[in-house]
Amino acid sequence: MAPPELTWRPPQPSVVGKVSPSLLATWKTCRLRVGFQLDPAASGLKRRGLRAAVGIVAHAVLERQFSSQEEFAAAWAAESSRAYEELARDWAPATPPAAQNWPAWALTKHQVAQRVVRDGAVGATAASRSRGSASGRRKQRPVAEPTGRTPMLPWRERWLEDAVLGLKGRPDLVEREGGVLTVADFKTGQGDMTDDHRDQLLIYAALVRSSLGELPARAEIRRPDGSTQAFGVRNEDVDDVARRASSARVLLNDAAVGRRRLEAAPGPDSCPSCPFRVACRPFLQAYQPDWICGHVAAGRVVGTGLLGAQRYLDLDVVAPRWRPRQLRLVGLPQQTAAPGQLWAVSDFEGTSATGFARWNTLTWRWPQ
Ligand code: SF4
Repeated sequence: MAPPELTWRPPQPSVVGKVSPSLLATWKTCRLRVGFQLDPAASGLKRRGLRAAVGIVAHAVLERQFSSQEEFAAAWAAESSRAYEELARDWAPATPPAAQNWPAWALTKHQVAQRVVRDGAVGATAASRSRGSASGRRKQRPVAEPTGRTPMLPWRERWLEDAVLGLKGRPDLVEREGGVLTVADFKTGQGDMTDDHRDQLLIYAALVRSSLGELPARAEIRRPDGSTQAFGVRNEDVDDVARRASSARVLLNDAAVGRRRLEAAPGPDSCPSCPFRVACRPFLQAYQPDWICGHVAAGRVVGTGLLGAQRYLDLDVVAPRWRPRQLRLVGLPQQTAAPGQLWAVSDFEGTSATGFARWNTLTWRWPQ
């Protein structure tokens, strides 16, 4: 059990009008996490991470064509710099690592270059040649759709929403490839298509159907190395995902007006990637030392100060119970806590009585 000192402030989500693929995926993992995401007081804990930043850089250049490695490298550097500035803004006053040190940044750069640089030194991959090269797709002429009013294909990162279905999303690409209406999403990860990816593509297919009046026949994920995974889209699958999204929206909106509580699903699979651990009592009740996730501790502030240029925070730890009762956390960039207050910190280094803040350490003041 969590100690009584940790007064629980459950998240208070705002009303949601339309469900995105990422919201539905999170809903399946932990409903309480969606509540935090939709709570204006807690949503700031969710910030862009380094892998997401790599994905944004890759997305920005994947559908372009470059005539030389130098041209590509300049575009990649410019997009990396832009992504870095956004990260730094999100995490200020902390300083994120340079782009070159982001996970898989160099590998992704290499894989993307293989697809989009056409200088002869690096050509299209076998996979992309067999399906039509990235540059070939880029040269595809816009095709007028039958209604005459509908924007021409291909659609690249076109925002789609439907108030009746209660869905919204931005598919990376909608195109006719060989006469087949296809919805595609670019993924920088290497894993197989998951149920969440499938639901994401089905939501996009539902939105394309309502915008274009035609259901895509094919949905696929495309990776920087040129590999793809696809499936045939069926009306019944699209209707099923729309039903599940609608059900999530109804339950969330019940929670928003206080008619229902959102269930937590704490566990070693659901919590490690969750930015709200620092504010989540069900997590602190369930948290075990063998969970593979960034450390979290909550405690009463007994002192703050400077060690050289480094700010430190001394906590009398109240949760989790298995941590040492005292924690000195060194290197917090911000000066926020005052003695007597109850604070939690997450994603720092160290399991002993001394911990070290990282650039992405989060802090949260608990109510008393
Ligand atoms: S920390 Fe775990 S239980 Fe709490 S909201 Fe996040 S995923 Fe759910």
